[in-house]
Amino acid sequence: MGTNVSRYRVEQASDLLRSVGLRRTIARINLLQCLAMQDVPCTQAQIGEALAVHGFDDSTIFRGLTDLTDAGLVIRIDAGDRVWRFELRDRESDGSLSERHHPHAICLKCGRVSCLSSSLAAQLDRASPDWIVHDLIVRGVCGECRSTSDAPARNRS
Ligand SMILES: [Zn+2]
Ligand SMILES: [Zn+2]
Repeated sequence: MGTNVSRYRVEQASDLLRSVGLRRTIARINLLQCLAMQDVPCTQAQIGEALAVHGFDDSTIFRGLTDLTDAGLVIRIDAGDRVWRFELRDRESDGSLSERHHPHAICLKCGRVSCLSSSLAAQLDRASPDWIVHDLIVRGVCGECRSTSDAPARNRS
């Protein structure tokens, strides 16, 4: 579902930074490598934990994420729960950064955020040709929560 599940080598991360005119720093390279290994968008706290061995402080991670987001390499997702989540921007098949980004779903019970197929956004584009959809959040209840609780549809009153 996430289209970014891959590992970046240091050289690839450096190339990516160069392509958007950002200076290569250890923090930026580590952030890109970390995000490339995630299959769902991550909060700054999760990213900080994943990079704890490198000893970056919060402000370094925050600044790094802001730089990468401003440069368009990283997408910041607001799923409506007041927590920013970050993931790598989708790429076109030729490797260029995609203008649109795949949509997400948030579970209203457990707060889990999942990636949805990018074809959904493409369908919306076709339905409303004036628009390029680059932010779409679906709210619902995830499969795990549905299987561990009574789904409202099964209410036998
Ligand atoms: Zn859930
Ligand atoms: Zn995603």
